[in-house]
Amino acid sequence: MKNIMVRKFVSLTLIAVLLVSVFAGCSSTTESAGKEKETQRPIMVQGPMPIEAEKFADRLENVKEEKSGSFVFYIGTLDNYPVIVAKTGKGMENTAAATAVAIERYNPIAIINQGTSGGHDADLNVFDIVLGERTTNLGSLKTADKDENQGIDPTVWKPMDLMASEGSAGEDPNAEKIRYYEGDKELLAAANAVIDTYTEGKIVQGTIGSADVWNNEVDRIKWFHEKYGTSVEEMEGAAAAQIAEAYDIAFLGIRILSNNKVNGGKYNPETAAANQGYVYEVVKEYIGTLGGNEE
Ligand code: SAH
Repeated sequence: MKNIMVRKFVSLTLIAVLLVSVFAGCSSTTESAGKEKETQRPIMVQGPMPIEAEKFADRLENVKEEKSGSFVFYIGTLDNYPVIVAKTGKGMENTAAATAVAIERYNPIAIINQGTSGGHDADLNVFDIVLGERTTNLGSLKTADKDENQGIDPTVWKPMDLMASEGSAGEDPNAEKIRYYEGDKELLAAANAVIDTYTEGKIVQGTIGSADVWNNEVDRIKWFHEKYGTSVEEMEGAAAAQIAEAYDIAFLGIRILSNNKVNGGKYNPETAAANQGYVYEVVKEYIGTLGGNEE
């Protein structure tokens, strides 16, 4: 009787050991499939207006179009690696929402927000390009404390960092600072590696400022340039950078000057295509650094 019990126990133990090793085998297969997938996470290139997104989308291969709300995603490949172009629409809200939707849907490995911009630096001309070493929200401001009939004075407004804490930004003196989102080092390296492919202007590293505002007052532009160190302004970069950071995804803003009020540079929509041509080279270079794109 005892003998039978022992034998039963031994064979049950054997079955258990076998099952455990089968499961362990399964999980290691899943793990390697996961790793394979990891190298294939798509690169996302965002452009606000049709002229800022469609030129890049045209250059993708095997393109399939998907929509979510008003956002259009062109899902394709470049050098056999998955790349998605997102036409986000203009402005901070469109961009933030399109970025979050895209992250949830497509799990991108990196996001490049690119398009046109207005110069804040007199040394930069229309067709020059700024690589966003930093991106910041120029609309996050706290005004002075004034009573009725004391007027309005934007020059004393303070930057307000909405990400400083979960508490009230209006009451928190620690929130009276500029929040910068850092451009991803590897994306910046890829962008710097292909600078020579761009011949229509110069390329510099700098600070991109964003808000749903088109500034045409030179003194106000100078105020931002001095206080925030901005090279250019546009209406999307900081929104995408903030959401990319929330999900810990590599981010870089790449902006071409389409106008520069500071030195009289007139708006030229042709700049949008020129920027996409350069960003195409950046993405190609970045894919090369990721590996896993060879067939
Ligand atoms: N002049 C254009 C305006 C485009 S609206 C037209 O009439 O079609 C603004 C878009 O251009 C935004 O997507 C923004 O990112 C970009 N932009 C270019 N220059 C800008 C500037 N000086 N200030 C703010 N946004 C600018």
